[in-house]
Amino acid sequence: MTDWTRRTAAEMAAALKAGEVTSVELTQAHLDRIAAVDGPIHAFLHLDPEGALATARKVDEDRAAGVELPALAGVPIAVKDVLVTEGLPTTAGSKILEGWIPPYDSTVSANLKAARMPILGKTNMDEFAMGSSTEHSGYGPTHNPWDLDRIPGGSGGGSAAALASFEAPLAIGSDTGGSIRQPASVTGTVGVKPTYGGVSRFGAIALASSLDQLGPCGRTVLDTALLHEVMGGHDPKDATSLDEPVPACVEAAMQGATKDLTGVKVGVIKELSGEGYQAGVEQRFEEALERLKAMGAEIVEVSCPSFEFALAAYYLILPSEASSNLAKFDSVRFGLRVEKETVEKTMLATRAAGFGDEVKRRIILGTYALSAGYYDAYYGSAQKVRTLIQRDFAAAFESADVLVSPTTPTTPFKLGERLDDPLAMYLNDVATIPANLAGIPGMSLPSGIAPEDGLPVGFQILAPAHEDARLYRVGAALEASLTEEWGGALTAQAPELEVAE
Ligand code: GLN
Repeated sequence: MTDWTRRTAAEMAAALKAGEVTSVELTQAHLDRIAAVDGPIHAFLHLDPEGALATARKVDEDRAAGVELPALAGVPIAVKDVLVTEGLPTTAGSKILEGWIPPYDSTVSANLKAARMPILGKTNMDEFAMGSSTEHSGYGPTHNPWDLDRIPGGSGGGSAAALASFEAPLAIGSDTGGSIRQPASVTGTVGVKPTYGGVSRFGAIALASSLDQLGPCGRTVLDTALLHEVMGGHDPKDATSLDEPVPACVEAAMQGATKDLTGVKVGVIKELSGEGYQAGVEQRFEEALERLKAMGAEIVEVSCPSFEFALAAYYLILPSEASSNLAKFDSVRFGLRVEKETVEKTMLATRAAGFGDEVKRRIILGTYALSAGYYDAYYGSAQKVRTLIQRDFAAAFESADVLVSPTTPTTPFKLGERLDDPLAMYLNDVATIPANLAGIPGMSLPSGIAPEDGLPVGFQILAPAHEDARLYRVGAALEASLTEEWGGALTAQAPELEVAE
């Protein structure tokens, strides 16, 4: 019997079109898989079997009636719990939003519905997307399907783990400093952070508004391209939404799959290697460069000297914006309310009970950085660093079409290992954060398994703003070259999960 959960989203879409499978069958297969393996993985916070199956049934009926349907109609998807979804619990991983059922849809969830994709459920994440491991979720961590003792990355560890455990063929993520790319890297999946403004943030619970970007997650480059085109586009409800056509991601992925990179200049970022990078991560990275070269790409070295300050600038800008964005959780408007004698005491008690340690740490830091007398020294300086980083990128893109680096310095670390050491946790994002500060698009795709620990390694590709299509071309080429050797996507090599009866 065919195990549909092992197929790519593109294959599922083709099989649906050809009448080889129904959307109800596909959706049920994924719901069964979730029931069988999600206990120890904990990728999902909420499931919506009835809603997903209802969407699937309607798609099947329309298809049978000959109605013209969108490309991914009937292909199920998992949605990070950062997206507001009408009628479905939405918590952003926080206890402060426990029990909140939004009365409206985010633009992206509305787009998924318009694309007729059954939504399986909402995936786990670090509280308000603050973290690199999902250990800061108010509802317990997600576990990495490659090794249950290891982190699945964060904040979007739930979406990445759902993909790597074949619970969903596609998922939505959000990336403020790496929360799509880093989880993709440590789970052997693919994740894309589009150009800032390329996907509407309306209804995405904000972490740091000038950095946040929603994006597609999948097991293959083509699958993420297909989803990117469903998610993206102009939205008058988001003032920062780009008023331009969605990049031609699918076309670029198809072009890349022909494995011809003649004339493409690939810049290796000098600063994102060396000290702190695991040997096996560097080895896989070097081998990937050789593959790009063999397909005709020219490899050059570029230097981005200001990256040294990226992490420090990010951890001032992000908490500053977050402290302001999270002010709305005041016990009056949404979710949790701890009733006390006065309004002030009620707010205080609610925020004390509803927010976790990492969220409190960042609110305190951000409030301090923005306070009178300190603003210039901290927030102001960080904004200047941001400009320097943008200039570094602009200079680097003068000599290269795309820039590359390992996505993360190491393979997934053990759960608990960095929980009490915020700086060690933050260091996992050194290679992903610069793209957010500059607003440029980035992709992470698997480049293999580290020989020393057998865990997945991610390869990061960055492109200039608006040039998201380049990521798909180069990514699909590298993937085609690698999967030829592997005989399929890297996720197929993950150990079999124990199945619950
Ligand atoms: N890990 C980073 C942080 O903790 C990135 C988070 C994100 O992209 N949402 O801020």
